[in-house]
Amino acid sequence: MPVLIVGSIALDTVKTPVEEHADLLGGSASYSAVSASFFTDARLVGIVGDDFPSAHVDYFKSRRIDLAGLQQVAGSSFRWSGEYMTDMNTRETRSVALNVFEHFTPHLPESYRQTPYVLLANIAPSLQSHVLDQMARPRFIVADTMDLWITIAKADLLALLARVDLLILNDSEAKMLTDETNLIKAAAMIRGYGPAYVAIKKGEHGCLLFGDSTKDEFFSCPAFPLANLHDPTGAGDCFAGGLIGALARADEETVTFEALKKAVVSGSVVASYNVEAFSLERLRSLQPADIESRYAEFERISRF
Ligand code: AMP
Repeated sequence: MPVLIVGSIALDTVKTPVEEHADLLGGSASYSAVSASFFTDARLVGIVGDDFPSAHVDYFKSRRIDLAGLQQVAGSSFRWSGEYMTDMNTRETRSVALNVFEHFTPHLPESYRQTPYVLLANIAPSLQSHVLDQMARPRFIVADTMDLWITIAKADLLALLARVDLLILNDSEAKMLTDETNLIKAAAMIRGYGPAYVAIKKGEHGCLLFGDSTKDEFFSCPAFPLANLHDPTGAGDCFAGGLIGALARADEETVTFEALKKAVVSGSVVASYNVEAFSLERLRSLQPADIESRYAEFERISRF
């Protein structure tokens, strides 16, 4: 089954303690769609300017990503710049230029409207809702978000959450959204806002998946032990894309917690590869066999 992915498509400048690269392919939708494309057909919704390199469009095409929902308009593409501190875990945003994003209204081609699996990758929650407004009720809806929207658009975010099946966010965002420091309580509160499931990412420490606690729906996914991390940008987006892609490939009539656990591992596998190089470079050479072998490694390191 195909997945629909809406989010940002960006040209990023990323600085780490040892390297700096400019004008990299980035954006939440770019990472998520390429990651999902390892599992199933992805349909992209987003916007770029007329400065967007055709090589990036060709890369999406080479991953068989459907670009009927990609708008290319006059103006500059969305640009983001970030810098990582020595621990590679702390990141500061250096600059954001919305450019064509400022007036973006996602418009779904007719061929996208029945897509059963949806990933609302990180963009303003009002735009995420606007995508859902144009769809027949999808089988499963995943949303990603960030601290910015919790700060400036909390009402829009809460309205969106009532329509979502799984919310993905990191630990500090979960605490911020709920004003609750205990992640178990925070997840229960978020489930109370609407999503049946919540995935709380803990950076280099893995991810927690919460469902119905009365059915013992709890899963702790380890982080893959990586000694050489080059660029953490997009790890969360690759995680979300791999997760929705794996769910769509499994395509159960009702998404079960067991399927979600496996999808969380699949997302973690792609994310762990992506951070081995800048931008989406590592995914260019990634093969399905690599995904399978690291999935098996995840199984091995979680067993006791
Ligand atoms: P992550 O590392 O998962 O937080 O995602 C990084 C990506 O998010 C970068 O490629 C950025 O281009 C993109 N990004 C940064 N800020 C925003 C924003 N406000 N809205 C949408 N995408 C953003």
